[in-house]
Amino acid sequence: MKKKINKQLILISSIAVVITVLLMTIVFYRILQAQVLEDLKLYASLLAQNSEWVQGEADEGSYQKEDMRITVISADGDVLYESDADRTAMDNHLERPEVRDAIQYGEGQSVRQSSTKGRNTFYYALLLEDGSILRVARESHSIWSILYRSLPVFIGTLILLLVVCLALSRYLTKSLVSPIEQMAADMDHIEDANVYEELVPFAETIKAQHEAILSNANMRQEFTANVSHELKTPLAAISGYSELIENGMAAGEDAVRFAAGIHQSANRLLTLINDIIRLSELDVMKEEEPFEEINLYELAQDSVEMLQIRAEEHGVILSIEGSPCTIQGNRQMLEELIYNLCDNAICYNNIGGSVFVTVEMAGEQPVLRVRDTGIGIPMESQERIFERFYRVDKSRSKSTGGTGLGLAIVKHIVAAHEAHISLVSEVGKGTEITVTFADRKET
Ligand code: ATP
Ligand code: MG
Repeated sequence: MKKKINKQLILISSIAVVITVLLMTIVFYRILQAQVLEDLKLYASLLAQNSEWVQGEADEGSYQKEDMRITVISADGDVLYESDADRTAMDNHLERPEVRDAIQYGEGQSVRQSSTKGRNTFYYALLLEDGSILRVARESHSIWSILYRSLPVFIGTLILLLVVCLALSRYLTKSLVSPIEQMAADMDHIEDANVYEELVPFAETIKAQHEAILSNANMRQEFTANVSHELKTPLAAISGYSELIENGMAAGEDAVRFAAGIHQSANRLLTLINDIIRLSELDVMKEEEPFEEINLYELAQDSVEMLQIRAEEHGVILSIEGSPCTIQGNRQMLEELIYNLCDNAICYNNIGGSVFVTVEMAGEQPVLRVRDTGIGIPMESQERIFERFYRVDKSRSKSTGGTGLGLAIVKHIVAAHEAHISLVSEVGKGTEITVTFADRKET
């Protein structure tokens, strides 16, 4: 970046200097030229008023003024007077452009290169009354010599510019890059670094990704730790019971009890592994599951039917009410959703309690509601029950075989259907969970 800024700065300023010098030279040369010709003109008209010239009576070389050269030419091209004595032997002057113009138009001018290098001669010719031509000439700098003279200044300016550019580009790069460096160094406080406006969306994306990666890594780590922990308990139980049997310490009724313990722990392991697999499936698939038109009410009726035996086991009355309503969804996922909600409502209930499932329209939105008269969820746990492996009362939920993954799966399914889940609960009174689906007309 520094190199690039350096190069460009130097390039731009060099171009600027060259153009300026060239333009200045041209302008200066023009002014000089105009000035010299103006002088010649004035001088010639002054001379023309002097009869000496008109009659060609002045002596050769007698009139010398500074670097001015004066020539008088007769109408047929003979030189009548020449101030520069060395040049008397000259060819016919009628062919010179300024003389030709003077004969034709009364006056003429031209600029020719001098024999001296780097100098130009400016000529001005004036037609006199008697038909002879008065010509004055003067040497002056040519455009090249002006350019040549300005060369040291020109080079000096360039060197100065080079130094200024180097310093400037160093400063510029530093000030340009520092917010970016600051941003890269401290991802968490991008707002504090005064980053360029244009970079803000970019920075925010990076920050969001950064955070997502971090939280993802955290979640994975936590999940792995939880899984290991959850697997350890039933495995330890299986190992313990089987060791007792191995050592011959289980006889008769004990053996049956230990076998039952092994059976229960193995079952727990199975459900746990099933839930974990299901969760990671949901994690990976997300949008790939096919959606179809589903009658939510009928689906809930089927699920309730299936859960009746489980409800009876827990001494809970399970009922459903509502009206047919269709949604866009995935059948298997919705079955899991209803199953998990009802299962919780049955498990975390009291003997003689009830569970009410309702499917209805709330305005334009289909709603599934599962209400129970169970133990309820304490306020501080209400936010956390959707986390993986979170259980309010570890011992109670363990006795019911819970893994703490059911509501995590529910949350996933709700998200996949772009639905919304809410919870109202009071300890000792019961819980109501409501899933609100999107308005079909809007989606
Ligand atoms: P799983 O459903 O995987 O078998 P689980 O039921 O323990 O296990 P979740 O369904 O995720 O796991 O529920 C998490 C916790 O939330 C439960 O352990 C329980 O403490 C509490 N909970 C969930 N539903 C209810 C409810 N209807 N009434 C009271 N507590 C509930
Ligand atoms: Mg559950």
